[in-house]
Amino acid sequence: MKALSSKIGPLLCSLCVLCALCVLCDKALALDREAFTFTKYDLDVRIEPDQQRLGVRGKLTVRNDSTTPQADLALQVSSSLDWRSIRIAGKPAQFVTHEYTSDVDHTGALSEAVVSLPHDIPPKSTLEIEIGYEGTIPLDVTRLTRIGVPEDKAKHTDWDEIGKSFSAVRGIGYVVWYPVATEAASLSDGNSVAETIGRWKAREAQAELKAKLTNSGEGVPTLLLCNGEGSQQAQERMSKHFANTTECRYPTLGMTVPLFAIGSYSGLDKPPVNISYLADHKSGAENYALAANLAAPLVKEWFGGSQPATDIRRAEVIELADPDAAPFESGTMLLTPLVDSDSRLYLLRAVHQLTHAAFPSPRPWIYEGLAHFAQSLEREQQNGRHAAIDFMGQHRAAIVDTEKAIAAEHSQTTAAGESLINTGIEEFYRSKAMYVWWMLRDMVGDDALKKALAAYRADDDKETAYIQHLIEAQSKRDLEWFFDEWVYRDHGLPDFHVESAYPRSTVDGHSVVTITIENLGDAGAEVPVSLRFDGGEATKRLEVRAKSKAVLRLEATGTPQEIRINDGSVPESDLANDSYKIEVKP
Ligand SMILES: [Zn+2]
Repeated sequence: MKALSSKIGPLLCSLCVLCALCVLCDKALALDREAFTFTKYDLDVRIEPDQQRLGVRGKLTVRNDSTTPQADLALQVSSSLDWRSIRIAGKPAQFVTHEYTSDVDHTGALSEAVVSLPHDIPPKSTLEIEIGYEGTIPLDVTRLTRIGVPEDKAKHTDWDEIGKSFSAVRGIGYVVWYPVATEAASLSDGNSVAETIGRWKAREAQAELKAKLTNSGEGVPTLLLCNGEGSQQAQERMSKHFANTTECRYPTLGMTVPLFAIGSYSGLDKPPVNISYLADHKSGAENYALAANLAAPLVKEWFGGSQPATDIRRAEVIELADPDAAPFESGTMLLTPLVDSDSRLYLLRAVHQLTHAAFPSPRPWIYEGLAHFAQSLEREQQNGRHAAIDFMGQHRAAIVDTEKAIAAEHSQTTAAGESLINTGIEEFYRSKAMYVWWMLRDMVGDDALKKALAAYRADDDKETAYIQHLIEAQSKRDLEWFFDEWVYRDHGLPDFHVESAYPRSTVDGHSVVTITIENLGDAGAEVPVSLRFDGGEATKRLEVRAKSKAVLRLEATGTPQEIRINDGSVPESDLANDSYKIEVKP
């Protein structure tokens, strides 16, 4: 009898496991993870840096935004956290948890709770849920090392952790420290991570998040900083023990990724920036403040007119403890190491940050594109047009590669193009958008573009063509074709070459060269064309539409030698065919 039960025992047990797995599989298959929008978060977050621990209790409101009634709900947090309780209408809810592989978290996985709802939730209905989860947030580079990034490099990119002396934790895309619900995404699968996070942010743009964050420990109290509004501080102290509470509110999340940092911060408040720096780094903070001061006039000249000066948000800088950490920006807040003595680097970062503060826009290609464009303007102001073009050139290869990858994807799946107005790809809404702004500036001139930008109001930007019309009104130029090929659709990049060049002598002994330029690409552009001759150079701009040819004439006062298309200000797929030697017939 004893022998029998000892055999049945494990058998029953493995059956249980099997049942549990089946239930889980069934649910996972039927589950629409992106059916619910999380409309409201009210979280009580307790952080114990000494233990690297995070514990959260709170309430969520979710709304079924799908078209069918939902019987289950997915709740996901970082895989280093565990679900402790889920209650609906005051009663414990039924749920199963499992690890869900996804690269929207630094650990490369999520702790997913699949909740069986007490009754089906019809479309448009909301539900309130009480939740509890906890665990640790250590430094974790799993998702990067498994795609081959060396660990030493990875830890300066995925630097998020709750650590004894310093903590910095970003939200979705880095550490899922508040609950989300997304389909799996993998860094080895094209742009799936960016696309998944983009979908989540779009769904959550109107959501409200309130978090009461308490950091506690022994010894010297540390300060918690976050990127929300209305932070209030409450301090408790009992002998060696301290507890600091900070309220962080996000009335609407917009594109913000909620983040917090904890450290022994000191403050340096020097308009236009407010800097929180770590011990011994006051000189770094002062260098940054100086750079911001130097950057301010250029930013004001180009971007200062779109909102009243009193509405311009102060730029915030929060120092990261790792001196090699990759900087991270969230709206007008910048997380960055402050140990650099490279003043040029600080100047570039400050120009970018102040442009964000001066020029809010709900459209990433405008918001980020202009901040990067401002950096090229700054390079131009310091060292001339060549320096600006060199600076932009650092982004060109990434744009070309991304266009190629998308083109390859299209031929397989005929997916919709990654237009600047829709894209979630950084190489596009940052780098490609920067070039688009530079090309527009070259086309319409500084004055017209500055006036158009000054007329821009973020609240009025409802139609995709709003900015196009502002620029057209100032420049009196039809820009529809340009916006259509570069902004509203993704037409790839132009590819120019000289089709023919005919020099002809003039009566005054000079010569005129008739040049035909062909654009092999699907995006048109206005491009500078230069003719080098003995003793000089002549340059004109020429509009060459997609898959078209255009002709211009350039005059030479000496023997014509070489034609050069594109000084680098137009991003082209192929630069190798941009020069053309003129053979002078004897
Ligand atoms: Zn930015």
